[in-house]
Amino acid sequence: MPNLLSSAAHEVPGISAIHAFADNYIWMVSNGREAVVIDPGQAEPVLEALAMHQLKLTAILLTHHHQDHVGGVTELIQATNAGVYGPAGEKLPFCDVPLKEGDQVNDEALHLKLTVLDVPGHTAGHIAFYGHFKNTPILFCGDTLFAAGCGRLFEGTAAQMHASLAKLAALPWDTRVFCAHEYTLSNMRWACEVEPGNKELQHWQKTATEQRSQGIPTLPSNIGQELACNPFMRARHPDVAQAAVTWSQRELTSPVEVFAALREWKNNFR
Ligand code: ZN
Ligand code: FE
Repeated sequence: MPNLLSSAAHEVPGISAIHAFADNYIWMVSNGREAVVIDPGQAEPVLEALAMHQLKLTAILLTHHHQDHVGGVTELIQATNAGVYGPAGEKLPFCDVPLKEGDQVNDEALHLKLTVLDVPGHTAGHIAFYGHFKNTPILFCGDTLFAAGCGRLFEGTAAQMHASLAKLAALPWDTRVFCAHEYTLSNMRWACEVEPGNKELQHWQKTATEQRSQGIPTLPSNIGQELACNPFMRARHPDVAQAAVTWSQRELTSPVEVFAALREWKNNFR
């Protein structure tokens, strides 16, 4: 597996991060004239970015119903007439095109081709968008997968989230992972407790710490990095399973039980 752990390799020209709230990223895909945004929790920073780069917003993609992902939708459609694409199974402020597993969202002008994946767990109807921007494989996963972490189980079960992450784990290793929050360093502090001997994790932590000290997003990550470093993607690894058993002081008889113990461990980690 080629090494994609250096920061420069992550960047995808044409996809940029708009900062919102304390630690949200609203991802924007553009071709210099038109733009699509994913999970605009706030309208203002998006409108500023559009004005600054003289872009026309053509579509808004939504992964789930939480306010920090949909809060800007109403104001953005009033200002731009952009079409709204979101999960069929969730209550949204507005939606033109309800989406479910296997549906396609294509934007020829942007060279953006996406397929919808159902990824319940964080919320009951959470979706992700997997596909290509030009030739680069990309994933917009909202609050399902984070760099070295995953979303909390607000509406779904551990079995659902485990299956959702397994679906993402099966994507090509070089798929760039555009998560919706900058949680990387705190996730890594916990991941290092789970797997103190994971050299790839230590290397990535060093890179990410450097990026944050310069105010640079640690994202996108990629599926290869997550498979190598993210405990939630590694419930089958003997070291991770053993760490979960030690922490929970229970016998864990399946990867789902290991995953559930890891999620509980992370919830209690400060
Ligand atoms: Zn959320
Ligand atoms: Fe969120």
